[in-house]
Amino acid sequence: ATVPASALDEVVPTKAAPIALNFNENSMGMSASAKKAVIDSLGKAFRYPDDAKEAARKATADLNGVSPELVTLGSGSSQVIQAVVASQVQKARAAGKKVQLLQPVPTFGVAESYAAALNVPVTNVPLNAETLEIDVEALKKAAARFDGVTIVYFCNPNNPTGIVTDKAKLSGWIEASAAAKAPVFFLVDEAYGEFVENPAFESGVVLVKKGLDNLIVTRTFSKLYALAGLRLGYGIATKSVLAECDLFESVDNINLAGAVAAAATLADKTYLETSLAATKLSKAIVTKAFDELGIKYLPSEANFIFHQVKGDSETYRKHMADANILVGRAFPPFTGWNRLTLGTPGEMKAFVKVLKDFRTKGLI
Ligand code: PLP
Repeated sequence: ATVPASALDEVVPTKAAPIALNFNENSMGMSASAKKAVIDSLGKAFRYPDDAKEAARKATADLNGVSPELVTLGSGSSQVIQAVVASQVQKARAAGKKVQLLQPVPTFGVAESYAAALNVPVTNVPLNAETLEIDVEALKKAAARFDGVTIVYFCNPNNPTGIVTDKAKLSGWIEASAAAKAPVFFLVDEAYGEFVENPAFESGVVLVKKGLDNLIVTRTFSKLYALAGLRLGYGIATKSVLAECDLFESVDNINLAGAVAAAATLADKTYLETSLAATKLSKAIVTKAFDELGIKYLPSEANFIFHQVKGDSETYRKHMADANILVGRAFPPFTGWNRLTLGTPGEMKAFVKVLKDFRTKGLI
């Protein structure tokens, strides 16, 4: 796929229109087919979105090679994560068991906040200090030590590092745990799964297809599909897991625009290929500059890169904001690192220019 010239031209950021490289969105913007589908749907927007929701569910199921019964849609994948945490906590407590949320740190924080809202203790396990990979062995030990039910939040590839966990380690743990009937439930968040090229990655959907009911996989239309503002995400799990989860989802939790846009985007293979090609090009532009400047970065399999900065990332973020570029927040304990979203190649050219200017000023 060829990236259109409009996405290659260097963008000039201004105070009024800064370049947003802070939330891992797809800067290519919605596909033209999705925009058209939304406009065409407005005449029906006074009705409830049931038909469109079913069509989106079917398209999502086809994409993942499962039947629609194994798919639950949510107002973003965060809402599915919320329902999963609530339902698993409720199930454990109804059985008179203690429950904890177990996660690597740093990672994406919503499972933790939904758990905290339910007074569920959160156990944090640091990443491997050298590779910054998720430390699966340490997570296993923390689950084994707990005398109750453990909900593992496992982000693959992880946010903010972009690193994937080897299938032998993650799928191996989930399968062994299911075989042993261990009191562990896995919430595998694959928000960035579409960007992964590393063959060491295996989607948890493979395990759901095998019938395992100790996990749910969440995915989203907010990232590659560029529909973050229309709020559509989903979960894939066995029927029994989804039946529990659905108890905690509001009726008509998704909207018509998101449903029709998702179906249209899925059908638009050219748009998806172009977006992936643009992200790849953006990654090459940024990593070339990091290499030239001797800036350390992690091997990302997502649409963002975690890289080292000079000093603390909050100061770096402010300097970037002064140059009208918005970059990611701090991810403790990695305060000397920043998460950079891969925008369009034209946006990344502007970023590189600012970065090189920072070098001459001693800011990076
Ligand atoms: N999971 C991860 C790892 C994310 O980074 C994000 C958003 O940044 C989400 C889930 C939530 O996405 P959404 O609710 O838009 O599907």
